Amino acid sequence: MGKGRRFWLEEAVDIAAKEAAWAVELQGVCKTYVTGAGEFSALKGVNLTVAAGEFVAVIGKSGSGKSTLINMITGIDRPTAGEVWVAGTPVHRLSENQSAIWRGRTVGVVFQFFQLLPTLTALENVMLPMDFCNVHAWEERPQRALDLLELVGVADQADKLPANLSGGQQQRVAIARSLANDPPLLVADEPTGNLDTQTAEAVIALFKRLSQAGKTIIMVTHDGELARQGSRIVTVAEGRILEADGAAADG
Ligand code: ADP
Ligand code: MG
Repeated sequence: MGKGRRFWLEEAVDIAAKEAAWAVELQGVCKTYVTGAGEFSALKGVNLTVAAGEFVAVIGKSGSGKSTLINMITGIDRPTAGEVWVAGTPVHRLSENQSAIWRGRTVGVVFQFFQLLPTLTALENVMLPMDFCNVHAWEERPQRALDLLELVGVADQADKLPANLSGGQQQRVAIARSLANDPPLLVADEPTGNLDTQTAEAVIALFKRLSQAGKTIIMVTHDGELARQGSRIVTVAEGRILEADGAAADG
């Protein structure tokens, strides 16, 4: 085997290892909002790497840029400068259309206010992303949705409309929905912000379980106690990351 070929192999192995190791990588990410009042820099050069299987808690004061950061990772919004890579995809380069399709298959998104469709049952809400992305066969979808509701503990609520569920139940349905296409990455922006302490604990326990099953999780929270249950805390302050170290707990 010639020297050039061996180099190529080593390089390929190296690249493969890197892709496996880094689920999410932000390089020099800046986000400037242009408003009537002028420009506002919400992110000022953020570097962040999250390994596959990590459960990262993002904390910081209100207005520090947490949601903006999250929206860069999900591709819901685009950076003004810098790069966002998720498992080898240059998210910053995707068009709005490409981003929606990519997100549907790759990222489960969970919101503070659940954002279930009010006219659909819990089961139908979970099936919706399956219909959008066409990953799973049509005839498998109802059972798969029911299995996901079972996984998050609300299978008995499958036929109810969101208005007839408690906040905690709605958030469980929303988490089941986020898992519809079996995405490797879950991103949650203050998922417990609208839940009582006990229900919030249950949701975090669920995230922990999913992370132990191999999902990469990035969760914004106001709650320091809950943040410590992740595998790492990242603090955002005035558009910058203060610290991205310190494994808080193992698993
Ligand atoms: P956090 O989630 O940490 O509360 P955000 O990322 O939502 O913070 O917001 C960071 C800053 O950017 C805030 O000062 C906010 O007012 C501003 N901001 C957020 N979204 C927009 C927008 N669409 N247009 C203008 N300013 C925005
Ligand atoms: Mg926010």
